[in-house]
Amino acid sequence: MFDSLSDRLGGVFDKLRGRGALKEQDVRDAMREVRIALLEADVALPVVRRFVDQVTEKAVGQSVLRSVTPGQQVVKIVNDALVEMLGGDTTPELDLNAAPPVVIMMVGLQGSGKTTSTAKIAKLLKEKHGKKAMMASLDVNRPAAQEQLKVLGEQVDVATLPIIPGQQPTEIATRALQAAKLQAIDVLLLDTAGRLHVDQQLMDEMKAVAAISNPRETLLVVDSLTGQDAVNVAQSFSGEVDLTGVVLTRMDGDARGGAALSMRAVTGKPIKFAGIGEKADAIEVFHPGRVAGRILG
Ligand code: GDP
Repeated sequence: MFDSLSDRLGGVFDKLRGRGALKEQDVRDAMREVRIALLEADVALPVVRRFVDQVTEKAVGQSVLRSVTPGQQVVKIVNDALVEMLGGDTTPELDLNAAPPVVIMMVGLQGSGKTTSTAKIAKLLKEKHGKKAMMASLDVNRPAAQEQLKVLGEQVDVATLPIIPGQQPTEIATRALQAAKLQAIDVLLLDTAGRLHVDQQLMDEMKAVAAISNPRETLLVVDSLTGQDAVNVAQSFSGEVDLTGVVLTRMDGDARGGAALSMRAVTGKPIKFAGIGEKADAIEVFHPGRVAGRILG
């Protein structure tokens, strides 16, 4: 991910750095290339415009152009703007400050990587944060979904709620909360049902589950390979439920980067985790600063 964007930007900045003195026109020329690189990376157009305008305004200032190292200063301005675009300086932590069992509700479309991400986060909470976690699948639409979570639970050694066939999602959520209380679980992860498209039935089901379980975190799982669609899906979901963050999966793939770069600006929601593979530990906390560093090389 970001490889071709990184190459393109690297080329632009090498030229800038190589010049010594910079004129306003040099900066404007470079920004035109940055604009094209971002659009080719599938970043949303309004986001690109805002980015280029902000960076240009700062970079053509006299204090930059007259400085000893103008090229480097421009690169720093771009870096800071990229960090901002990716979500800002601070790494968004999971908010677990509530009476246990703290509920994390996982939502998303089918195939986005929701069930896998649920197990990955449960493993992370157990191993990195010392939390006692439990997972429950509320997906009664896809026959194998509950089994899939059970198998993943065995792999990562995290308890899953025993399956009772025929129960509705809200009944499963109620049972999961009771079980979590009885077993002194710290964090309960609810893997809600996916759908092929965003539809009203799905949204109503999510709201009903949220009303019962009062989630501290509602994480939307989206596939970075779907680019702008991922951002559109996030917008649809955030209009319906109170999302607290996004998990962007398949960051190990060859996505161009548009989803990661547009998500915060378009939806206002922070990317909290990046899925970077199929294995249970292939997940990273999303650090905007590090990701910007990777893009700028
Ligand atoms: P769900 O329908 O949203 O629950 O999707 P699943 O969790 O079943 O994931 C669908 C497929 O995507 C599975 O084969 C996962 O192994 C795979 N997958 C999930 N996350 C990632 C990721 O970050 N990287 C890669 N390469 N594959 C992933």
